[in-house]
Amino acid sequence: EENSNLTVGIRVRPLNAKELNDSKITSVIQVNGQNIIVTCESVQHTFTYDHCFMSQVDTSESGYIDQEIVFKNMVSPLVQNAFEGYNVCLFAYGQTGSGKSYSMMGQESAQVNIISIDEAVGIIPRFCQEIFTRISTNMNTKTTVEISYFEIYNEKIHDLLTNVTNGVKRAPLKVREHPVFGPYIVDLSQHCVQNYKDLQTWLKVGNSQRATAATGMNEKSSRSHSIFSIILTQTQINNQLNSESMDASRRSKINLVDLAGSERLSQTCASGDRLKEGVSINKSLLTLGKVIASLAENTSNRKRGFVPYRESVLTWLLKESLGGNSRTAMLGTVSPANIHVEETLATLRYACQARAIVNRVRINEDPHE
Ligand code: ADP
Ligand code: MG
Repeated sequence: EENSNLTVGIRVRPLNAKELNDSKITSVIQVNGQNIIVTCESVQHTFTYDHCFMSQVDTSESGYIDQEIVFKNMVSPLVQNAFEGYNVCLFAYGQTGSGKSYSMMGQESAQVNIISIDEAVGIIPRFCQEIFTRISTNMNTKTTVEISYFEIYNEKIHDLLTNVTNGVKRAPLKVREHPVFGPYIVDLSQHCVQNYKDLQTWLKVGNSQRATAATGMNEKSSRSHSIFSIILTQTQINNQLNSESMDASRRSKINLVDLAGSERLSQTCASGDRLKEGVSINKSLLTLGKVIASLAENTSNRKRGFVPYRESVLTWLLKESLGGNSRTAMLGTVSPANIHVEETLATLRYACQARAIVNRVRINEDPHE
């Protein structure tokens, strides 16, 4: 086992057209290397991270950090880790509209400024593409890729890759804890994919289910957490006739997470059903905050204090990714606009705390005959 710090990156989205046309809206963020400087009421707040990705207002300007650079700098090392046999997790955290989904999935249609659709492809499709590129160049290893995709909404789990037959929604799925392998979702569909094209088809299915389920309520995507998981299994092909030696297999679990919007409950419309929804959505996010805080504290005190993983579905499922056996990264997304400065500062502080977490990682290798 070895120690592995959470890697934290911050991505600043560009001002959008509406913000640019509003003379009262200005950008309050500057990036200088690994530092982010936020000016709030003429006070400058400086934060340091592993990566800082600035977006120029004009996306065609040089210095606009695009999807490819974010992927190369922050995500590519995780793909490498996964092939080495480590579990890997990346989660996007930030207020609604700050660029979580743009970063994780990308933009499929409606072009923004001059960003081409190819360029706008996000982390999840790029991650998968790189997996298959690597597989195609490694002939001595048999590799299988299994995927699942689900969302947590109102503390309930919905599979995004099973058919909704005749519009009948399936009952939400349950979490159980296996004594050795840890928490898992009962009856979650797993799909073995042979190539990137197959995988793309599944992604489309999942994304459209996410969207369909949101009918009539645009906020749903901002209140649900979506988790795309990959299980990568590599087995050495032994060419020797007398294969006394054991074939080792390496197994890596990859979690790519697009969290619900981090804006506070106080700012959401809090009445009736909406309130209940807000409360339970925030339960997962709130618990994530508590888990991160207690892990950060454990690290600084070098102790193993209680971590409330089981208080929410999200943290229970991400138990291994947070403080456990996983190389984990957080992408904090923020708006540069002065009107969002409080949420921005909240995200930046949260991200600083996450950076203190140290996981204990090992390669998942099981030799078998
Ligand atoms: P979230 O998922 O956090 O609610 P989105 O990813 O949907 O936010 O982003 C909100 C809007 O901002 C979208 O129209 C998206 O295309 C745009 N956007 C976000 N980040 C960027 C970026 N880095 N570059 C260009 N456009 C972006
Ligand atoms: Mg989103």
